[in-house]
Amino acid sequence: MTDPGFEAAFQAAQKSLREGGIPIGAALVRDGSIVATGHNERVQRGDPIAHGEMAALRAAGRQRTYRDTTLYSTLAPCAMCTGTIIQFKIPRVVVGEAETFPGEFDLLRSRGVEVTVLHDARCIEMMRSFQQEHPQLWAEDIAE
Ligand SMILES: [Zn+2]
Repeated sequence: MTDPGFEAAFQAAQKSLREGGIPIGAALVRDGSIVATGHNERVQRGDPIAHGEMAALRAAGRQRTYRDTTLYSTLAPCAMCTGTIIQFKIPRVVVGEAETFPGEFDLLRSRGVEVTVLHDARCIEMMRSFQQEHPQLWAEDIAE
């Protein structure tokens, strides 16, 4: 039984992959309903700030509050996205995997954000393949 929020994030990642982009997707969910989804748009828009999480939050537009939301991401959030999660006071983050990129879980948890990791095999395979096939693009996205 897959969580609909997670499935939406995964589908967004797959869409990005089909477009030749970086396969990381995200979804903002409130009360079990998907507010918006997004995926990494570094390649598609030439936008280095458009990580999956940032794209989903942008697509969601103005929100009066995020305190009743959950942010899903196929991959552990980086420092930039973690900063945004903290700034917007998003209380819960559900992550597909953190094996191919560790993210900033300590920082998130230190600010009271509840982090759940699904250890999803599809996400791990998706990122491993991408990192092997496009090492330079991946390095660019994480500023390595
Ligand atoms: Zn990020």
